[in-house]
Amino acid sequence: MKLQRRKTTQFKIGNVGIGSDFPISVQSMTTTKTRDAEATLAQIYEIAANGADIVRVTCNEVEAAEGLVEITERSPVPIVADIHFQYKLALAAIDAGVNGLRLNPGNIRKESQIKEVAKAALGQNIPIRIGVNGGSLDKDLLEKYGDATPEALVESALKELRYLEDVGFYDIKISVKHSNVPMMVESYRLLAEKVKYPLHLGVTEAGPLPGGLIKSTAGISTLLNEGIGDTIRFSLTTNPIEEAKSGRQLLEYLELRERNSLDLIACPSCGRAEVDVIKVAEEAQDALNKENIPLQVAVMGCVVNGPGEARSADLGIAAGKNKGHLFIRGEVVRVVEEKDMVSSLLNEARLIVEEGIDARLAAAEDNAAEIAQKDINDLLNSQGDINKFLERKKSVVEITSNQDND
Ligand code: SF4
Repeated sequence: MKLQRRKTTQFKIGNVGIGSDFPISVQSMTTTKTRDAEATLAQIYEIAANGADIVRVTCNEVEAAEGLVEITERSPVPIVADIHFQYKLALAAIDAGVNGLRLNPGNIRKESQIKEVAKAALGQNIPIRIGVNGGSLDKDLLEKYGDATPEALVESALKELRYLEDVGFYDIKISVKHSNVPMMVESYRLLAEKVKYPLHLGVTEAGPLPGGLIKSTAGISTLLNEGIGDTIRFSLTTNPIEEAKSGRQLLEYLELRERNSLDLIACPSCGRAEVDVIKVAEEAQDALNKENIPLQVAVMGCVVNGPGEARSADLGIAAGKNKGHLFIRGEVVRVVEEKDMVSSLLNEARLIVEEGIDARLAAAEDNAAEIAQKDINDLLNSQGDINKFLERKKSVVEITSNQDND
């Protein structure tokens, strides 16, 4: 089912379209010192290679603004400068050639200064994100509402919005991030009712893995499923590469972006498993990820249920007794030795990428299905004779009843 996105205004940050007619984009932020242009660029390249469409860097000092000159020149993706407290650094970032600005209304509060930045940005076609944050909310609003409530966050955004619109500035996106998931969701819902601008989603200060990932996924997915959200960021306390990967994968899993990375599915394993499913799944994931294979690949613990349960996967392997059944879209195409399960999977994945699913189905070994069925039958037969169990059960009952008579 295709999600109905909330209709928004649109614009571009560098070459990336923002708004309801464009794909939802993934953002992340560097952790390097922006003044160190080389280190920052190296991280931007890594973040971009892992799925980010736009990267934000802090512009917290004059040297950072100087670093931005080289960074914006050589970056593979648009760069947004993050500005807190000093509006003059926003002006310097514009001069340095950034593609976008993020202003925090909680700590740049003077109307005249915000308007000066907006006029400068307008002259250079640079969009601005109004980045409200529950943790750094405007002091007056905190007093008025007593807490960083959804109403307080939205009021902060609307106040800043008026300043920008006053000077004819409309290339705006807005975020109202909160570290509490229900508050975050409520803030965005409220904002979405009041404005037509694109929204940037995130759970702020979500923290390290796995909690940060769960909080971000919960908040961002809830809103995306309601059609709200045009750009996203996972704010995780870990390498920003993980933020980019997580954002990208979330959009792919929700089918909001085309798959361009691996989706490894695996059974959770159970007493039927004939191999260490966790180990095989991890080895397969590492091998396939290294080559950035954009397929859905399944690792299943047993041949009895595996291929059927993972029928939708492009490719998969299921463990038999000392064997692996390699299957494409649920059809067994080859039976391999257990030790070759991961290498065969990798090899077949490469061939599917090169030749396509149909060609590889056509290249299935002639008797693969037959061998696989024999393997399944042998496995089922080796699982014992049910008559013997019934006999044993009977004798247990006899023994128990004799004891009762004693
Ligand atoms: S595929 Fe087999 S081993 Fe894995 S959970 Fe299902 S029944 Fe258990």
